[in-house]
Amino acid sequence: MTLATRFAPSPTGPLHLGHAYSALLAYGLAQAANGRFLLRIEDIDLSRARPEWEAQIYSDLAWLGIEWELPVMRQSKRQPAYDAALDKLWQRGVLYPCYCSRADIAAATAAPQEGAPMLGPDGLIYPGTCRTDHPPTTVRPRDLPLRLNMAWACAQLDWPLGFTEEGSGTAQYVPITADEMQRGVGDIVLARRDMGTSYHLSVVLDDAAQHITHVVRGRDLLEATAIHVVVQALLDLPTPVYHHHRLIRDETGKRLAKRDNARAIALMRSEGHSVKDIQSIIGL
Ligand code: GLU
Repeated sequence: MTLATRFAPSPTGPLHLGHAYSALLAYGLAQAANGRFLLRIEDIDLSRARPEWEAQIYSDLAWLGIEWELPVMRQSKRQPAYDAALDKLWQRGVLYPCYCSRADIAAATAAPQEGAPMLGPDGLIYPGTCRTDHPPTTVRPRDLPLRLNMAWACAQLDWPLGFTEEGSGTAQYVPITADEMQRGVGDIVLARRDMGTSYHLSVVLDDAAQHITHVVRGRDLLEATAIHVVVQALLDLPTPVYHHHRLIRDETGKRLAKRDNARAIALMRSEGHSVKDIQSIIGL
């Protein structure tokens, strides 16, 4: 099978050194294996995505010497695929509508009998307020957030699940347990009210649609990968190999974020830095 990697930025701010590291690593992996490199614009959050950031992404990646296949996948055009997957999950009986606001969830998890609120990859672990004890039989609601009933999802899957973590010449199998999914992750949102999908669902479906064999992304997404493996299993999709790379930090040790404009590639370009400078700063 041809190796295929991707870079999947959200056009919600400038690409910074951390993005350059991720994109160059993925591109280098594809090139070394004579494989494919794909780009995906993760613009499901239409309130934050901007065409000018998307244009800047293309410009910065080309400047870094990266070439990608066309057409570029854009998540904002993929709602029919997301809807089809949500219908499938709804029919499997593993989704339920959630009526809670953030404040409701914070209040429920702060109740004294609950002990210390537990945090999962998506923030507070959902206390289960809207969870029903029987699978819904009605048609899937389109205008409500839908949560994954993690206990039911886990009960339907063949364990053990896991994924291969590969990088720097080593490979290791990372097992995932039903217990850690139920206690440490809980009922995550798979369709948000405002977008009809979620990061987790879209990423899983798009990696499969783009036939991605190797996902290269930062260690900050390691916990999300366990969720992705579960969603892949529920939708009968293959699990790619993952490489969660080290994070690029500023001189105080803080992970770079979109707001760190000082490390924006565009700014460094305008200040006269070369691609070699960037490579040497990020240790490539
Ligand atoms: N769109 C995500 C980001 O910009 C990356 C998602 C991924 O690589 O899976 O952080």
